[in-house]
Amino acid sequence: MSDDEKKGPSPEEMQRSLQEFFGKMGTNMNWAMPGMEVGGTEDEEPSEPEIRPADSVFEFNYIPRDIKAYLDRFVIRQDEAKKALSIAVCDHYNHAKYLRALENEDGKLPEGIELQKQNVIVVGPTGVGKTYLVKHIAELVGVPFVKADATKFSETGYVGGDVDDLVRDLVQKAEGDVELAEFGIIYIDEIDKLATKGDMIGRDVSGRGVQTTLLKLMEETEVLLSNPMDIRSQMKSMMSMGRGESREKDTINTRHILFIVSGAFSGLEKVVRKRMSEGQIGFGADPVERAMDGELFNQVETQDFIDFGFEAEFIGRLPVRVVCEKLSAVDLENILKFSEGSLLRQYEREFEAYGIRAKWEDSAIARVAEMAEKENTGARGLMTVCERILRDFKFELPGTSVSELTITSGLIDRREEILTQYRELGKQVNVEKAARELEVFCRDFRAEHGVELVLSAEALAKLAEEAASQGRSLLQLCRQRFRDVQFGLKLIQKNTGRTRFELGVEAVVDPDNYLSDLVVRSYRGDDGEAEEDSEEATT
Ligand code: ADP
Repeated sequence: MSDDEKKGPSPEEMQRSLQEFFGKMGTNMNWAMPGMEVGGTEDEEPSEPEIRPADSVFEFNYIPRDIKAYLDRFVIRQDEAKKALSIAVCDHYNHAKYLRALENEDGKLPEGIELQKQNVIVVGPTGVGKTYLVKHIAELVGVPFVKADATKFSETGYVGGDVDDLVRDLVQKAEGDVELAEFGIIYIDEIDKLATKGDMIGRDVSGRGVQTTLLKLMEETEVLLSNPMDIRSQMKSMMSMGRGESREKDTINTRHILFIVSGAFSGLEKVVRKRMSEGQIGFGADPVERAMDGELFNQVETQDFIDFGFEAEFIGRLPVRVVCEKLSAVDLENILKFSEGSLLRQYEREFEAYGIRAKWEDSAIARVAEMAEKENTGARGLMTVCERILRDFKFELPGTSVSELTITSGLIDRREEILTQYRELGKQVNVEKAARELEVFCRDFRAEHGVELVLSAEALAKLAEEAASQGRSLLQLCRQRFRDVQFGLKLIQKNTGRTRFELGVEAVVDPDNYLSDLVVRSYRGDDGEAEEDSEEATT
């Protein structure tokens, strides 16, 4: 593909041909449509509110220890990675702040200030917190963050365009604030798939191509804000031209964008061991195959990455290197117990939405962690295991009279048996829970129809029993049973002025029949109150 083909039509050409096209269709389209701005589309989701304007970057006031302390709240283990990232982030944003201060003093940037950017390589298996770390750092600093897989780039025929999209995505995440996007963080996973070793010739070629394109971004380049290959963004820029707007800036500079790349790098440990065994008699005889851990990683040299299949220039732009370790069952248990983003809270909230209080016993937490470790997907295994264990409970318990679910190791090991017990429990009458649900129903009814319903204790017991025998909640039953009663009640209210209705057993068993009788009497001026007062009301 030639360079011209790559660029696609210019905005002017596109504007002309689209106007011709719509002209032929007889559509008088106003190009200067209000409400569309450069860098944003109508249907875009509003981006995360926590992103502050670019000035937040220049007020950066953290020290590495602060950042690590923040990460400790969410990420369990990975201390070396937390330290290395905290330092890299502080250096990076302090430098940006320093340059801004100089610029403010002198009006322009002094010449000759060099910075070797602290781009980071994180080596580690899947699901151990690599993305989680970067996401929380971006959140804390208040800069936009985008994540992509390197494999996405090597698999497309058009290498390069996609990589630039990462930078444009940053602008989108920053709600079109280009200045803020210029200090964003780009995180690329599966970077090891770009290594150009092995016999896959096609992948080799594109892998090297992507390395070169990424290298350009990591050094410094200007990326066009509108993708020349994307008709939507071309139309946007065309429309702003149609409005006669002169755009202040149509490119974004990548100088201050922080790049963090990661991958499992399986095989890198062999490269390191081979090199070490060549230099050190006896090391090669070590029969134990070791995964990459912190200790072995300390021995990794730039040459090892090159031998692994990276271009020297590319790896040279990633000076900070750190390992994220595999998580053990104990680590996984600690994640459940101590991480602020713990899955347990999520499950508790999910059950809570159905009025069920879920409680995790320690024995169950340990058991989940043990099972998750066997999944070999890091902390992601926790979700897989919890889903498997709790799916049937989440499906069957909502809407029954069960109000509490205690998750024990027994429940995990004898799921069917325990589920049967809960099913039975769900059928039992739970008067306390029923009374709470009735309260909710009556409150909603009053808010919606301006009529107060008061049920007698017998009426409540009757409904609770009926709901339990049907395996439904009292709330559901009431909503269905009293679906149309407001019409009759309103009539009675109109005829007699009565706003409070006390309902006994007869009324809740067959409300339609009961009401029609009451309505007839109300036309005679009899509000039926005397009869109802004879029953004792509860609510
Ligand atoms: P990866 O290392 O593949 O980037 P992620 O960071 O996306 O994995 O982890 C997936 C999820 O697992 C995270 O969203 C987080 O909830 C949880 N998680 C992973 N590692 C940890 C950890 N060390 N501490 C706490 N939670 C973690």
